[in-house]
Amino acid sequence: MTNSISSKISQLVRPEIRALQAYPVGDASGMIKLDAMENPYGWSAGLKQAWADFIQNADINRYPHPQAPQVKEGLRKVMNIPEQYECLLGNGSDEIIQLLAMMMVGKDGQPATIMAPEPGFVMYKMIATFCGLNYTGVPLQADFELDMPAMLKCIKEQQPELIFLAQPNNPTGNLYPLESVREIIEASEGLVILDEAYLPFSSRNHLHLLDEYDNVLVMRTLSKVGLAGLRLGMIFGQQAWLHELDKIRMPYNINILTQLTAEFALQHYDILMEQCEILKAERSKMTEQLNALDFECYTSEANFILARVPEGQEAKAIFADLKDKKILIKCLDGGHPLLQQCLRFTVGTPEENQQLIAALS
Ligand code: PMP
Repeated sequence: MTNSISSKISQLVRPEIRALQAYPVGDASGMIKLDAMENPYGWSAGLKQAWADFIQNADINRYPHPQAPQVKEGLRKVMNIPEQYECLLGNGSDEIIQLLAMMMVGKDGQPATIMAPEPGFVMYKMIATFCGLNYTGVPLQADFELDMPAMLKCIKEQQPELIFLAQPNNPTGNLYPLESVREIIEASEGLVILDEAYLPFSSRNHLHLLDEYDNVLVMRTLSKVGLAGLRLGMIFGQQAWLHELDKIRMPYNINILTQLTAEFALQHYDILMEQCEILKAERSKMTEQLNALDFECYTSEANFILARVPEGQEAKAIFADLKDKKILIKCLDGGHPLLQQCLRFTVGTPEENQQLIAALS
């Protein structure tokens, strides 16, 4: 970089963006991929052919439908979304988080504040930063349960405009008690987003809270259920909220191939759900096997397991050793004080999980 470019960047690019690190995505070619909470199963040859037939008539020369009504209808059907709630789609739920951040204003016209428990999904803070919002992370307890006095104190003192509760939480995998979720919603004058990215693996959904509270929206994604490549996220809630959010959504944010593929995939949702059931069974098996190797596994309602490495071992060393053996997981050590010596294992196919356990043994 020449001096003149770097001085232009210092002069023209916002300092908080210069200080940011881009979201890290490592090269996983040739690896067993247990790092990113993807569904490891592909589609059968027959299903792929039917998909290819379905999308081959896409009017690729035309802009896609701006509202993607067929996709929304498919989602409503498989997810049992009541008529009275509106749906807005995003290029992944990441985009919806960004839209929410762009929509909010703080007190007296000041930048809004986002609050989330930590450790949590890193994009909440990252998006707050690059959208020029304030961000408050409230530490979870050492057992990754909510620190309710701290949460309620923060809400009372700061009244954040946006609160994100990932349920189950990433990277810890747990659900907070529903009573605590309610308490947070009731204490908040701002909007509470229940991020259900891992719903297909969880024992609880929060759609019913939309009936009870008008400051709640429920966000989901097709990424974890088996369609990470599509980039399709969605948010459900009262029409009045989504009407505002829709104004800042790019008109064609869901491209035609995503729309058609989602429409097709939702007609075969039972296949994806069956795969999720296999992954849930594998999660139990993997937890037992990791425990037997003296890892301390935290109870997970998601398609990953957070585990602390056995006493006397180093998370970073285990991560590096697995990488040498062509197995990619996520090392969380160093990411947050509560995650010391922690690793996160995405649940893979039975074969992949066996290779992981063999490598760790
Ligand atoms: N929320 C949570 C809690 C997540 O863990 C993730 C992905 N890691 C997302 C949202 C984003 O999902 P996507 O953009 O793929 O829809």
